[in-house]
Amino acid sequence: MNPKLLLGTIRNSLMARIFGMCFIAIHLPLVVAILYLASGFASHPVSIVTVLLVATLVGTVACLSGLWWFIRPLKVLVGAIERYHVDGTPVRLALRRNDEVGVLARSVSSTMSELDGLTKKLRHQATTDTLTGLGNRRSLTERVASEQARAAREGVPVTVVLFDLDRFKEINDNYGHDVGDSVLMAIGEVVRDNLRRYDAGARIGGEEFCLMLPRTRESDGLAIADRYRKQFERTIVPPLMKGRITASFGVYEAAPGESLQQMLRCADEALYRSKQAGRNRVSRYTSANRQGEPPHLNPR
Ligand code: GH3
Ligand code: MG
Ligand code: MG
Repeated sequence: MNPKLLLGTIRNSLMARIFGMCFIAIHLPLVVAILYLASGFASHPVSIVTVLLVATLVGTVACLSGLWWFIRPLKVLVGAIERYHVDGTPVRLALRRNDEVGVLARSVSSTMSELDGLTKKLRHQATTDTLTGLGNRRSLTERVASEQARAAREGVPVTVVLFDLDRFKEINDNYGHDVGDSVLMAIGEVVRDNLRRYDAGARIGGEEFCLMLPRTRESDGLAIADRYRKQFERTIVPPLMKGRITASFGVYEAAPGESLQQMLRCADEALYRSKQAGRNRVSRYTSANRQGEPPHLNPR
């Protein structure tokens, strides 16, 4: 066999390297003893035993260090996988070894980073509304849970704004579904452009959207909702006339510990009143909502 090829095979085979190293380590005392005896210095049995002992120790240390060196990447890999599970640190190993351990560590590392990417992509898809690029109801549910926990911890308010496009069915009926879709996309763009850093925006129904505003009181929520209302009025989607795209809003400051469902029910009551009062307006929720009181805010 070509010696170069043999060397390459040994270098890339963990089994061959371990066998080779163990063979040398085991036979080291024997080789040293033969050399020592052949050298003519072996005058006393104590010196022979001492040389054998030293050779055995050297062989053992070399064997254990070699084993440690050969399987060390596995230990590094396990540590990286554990860190990934604890805090999501990506598994990245820069290994230049081509034996089985090196190949295994590299392929586990690349499979994990592939899985990580896929998981992120799936999570994004599962929590995103494809038409508008906003979040969906699932993303809102997750966000509300964490924001409500923070609100309880820090005693800060959370306000939700629910809005529904006005007479949207007419747009579909008169101009076609594609124009309706373009309106939804335009609304998504306006919301994305205007969301503050900690706000969340989601499309939770056909033409119904929800904004969750952490650390925001109802009064600020009303002003923010009105800003969006005006922005929608100014939005142009051909062939619709300017001012045709409008929405009715309901604003509700959540009580501590309330679920998304409870928040949406109250915001929806306020939204309903905006619709009843003529659309394209903002109303706040009050407990008097059910008793037919006028909306608290009429921005027109
Ligand atoms: P209101 O002012 O009372 O809210 O009236 P509206 O016409 O907006 O409400 P309605 O519930 O009668 O109609 C909503 C329409 O939204 C009906 C449905 O076809 C349309 N819709 C729901 N999802 C989509 C969508 O993804 N794309 C399009 N183009 N239309 C949609
Ligand atoms: Mg509508
Ligand atoms: Mg609706």
